[in-house]
Amino acid sequence: MTILWIIIGLVALSYGWGRVLSWLNLRAHGRDLPESLKDRYDADKYAQSYDYHLTNYRFSIFQGLLSFILTVMVLAFGWFGELDGWLRANVTDHAIGLPLVFFGVIYILSDVMSWPFQWYHTFVIEEKFGFNKMTPRLFVIDKLKGYLMGIILGGVILGALLWLVDSLGEGFWIWFWVFISAFMLFMTFFYTSIFLPIFNKLTPLEEGELRAAILKYAQSVNFPLDNIFVMDGSKRSAKANAFFSGFGKQKKIVLYDTLIEKHSQEELVAVLAHEVGHYKRNHVKQSLVLSLLQTGVMLFVLSRFVLSPELSYALGGEVQAIHLNLIAFGLLFSPISSVLGVGMNLLSRKNEYEADHYAATTYAAAPLGEALIKLNENHLSNLTPHPWHVFLNYSHPTLLQRLAHLKMN
Ligand SMILES: [Zn+2]
Repeated sequence: MTILWIIIGLVALSYGWGRVLSWLNLRAHGRDLPESLKDRYDADKYAQSYDYHLTNYRFSIFQGLLSFILTVMVLAFGWFGELDGWLRANVTDHAIGLPLVFFGVIYILSDVMSWPFQWYHTFVIEEKFGFNKMTPRLFVIDKLKGYLMGIILGGVILGALLWLVDSLGEGFWIWFWVFISAFMLFMTFFYTSIFLPIFNKLTPLEEGELRAAILKYAQSVNFPLDNIFVMDGSKRSAKANAFFSGFGKQKKIVLYDTLIEKHSQEELVAVLAHEVGHYKRNHVKQSLVLSLLQTGVMLFVLSRFVLSPELSYALGGEVQAIHLNLIAFGLLFSPISSVLGVGMNLLSRKNEYEADHYAATTYAAAPLGEALIKLNENHLSNLTPHPWHVFLNYSHPTLLQRLAHLKMN
């Protein structure tokens, strides 16, 4: 009972805190353009951005409240335990089969329940503000591909975890850590060559002026042009982006076609230079090592709880069940993972400054600044988010912070 109350308390606390933070954030969105951007930013777009954030805020109040009420009901009425009992009696009580079926049911159920919200967000909100490029057909195809991948990858990872716990008991964590580290390494290495192509098409840069300009820059910093690709982001959203991924031979810089469409050649080279900066400063390897360490800590703590019957009883289970323990642990561990997440965001924001600095010194600051302004305009960004929100949740510094850092403010 005590554990159940602690879990419900944590869920309520995190819900309440999330509401406060997003309310503060909406209030922080000014009605007037920040002084330093007065002549450089589209005033209409800025006015529109308030509407966009207000609409999203109202939507998230509704969605957040429903999911909060449902979570508390599931916990308070012991529905996890009931599902466990029902599956045991009617489907299987196999040590590994039962947890796999249990998580499969929860994964599908919770995702199906979120369909109406995802649908509304894509086809009503994003559509209204001109972002949506997705067709209902693509929406469904994405869902099916997502399920297939989720079931295969989730099944393999969970299967390995369950098998190790079943055969090694508390000592499972070291071996599972080794397994999951190899898996994360594999994912980072092959993300753009195996996983991304399931959803998007990557093509090499077309011949032409842009390719020539990029080639010139890439040669000056010794980055191979073969590793630069264009992605058809426009089939889902008008929002633009670019990213760096992988390492070694599999390193890739990916530019969205929507980025190429809206930015000048100079701006594109500047954005590319920023991504090369992430590579040159080893940011991918750095965050990979940190996530591996984080995972190790989490698994060690998990090993102390994974076989404790109290956690299962707290979720309404009749007997000790590893899947109930995993869910309870996930909820109890959430404050710690939030703290770790804040640390990762801090590091990520520092890395963004580093990559900006790299672009400014190896190419030029002005076109990067222009590109950032345009990106924020086109995405209807909140230019003045609440500082707490930035500190806790932002992986990138705000536009004004980045311009100040580029000495363009
Ligand atoms: Zn970056």
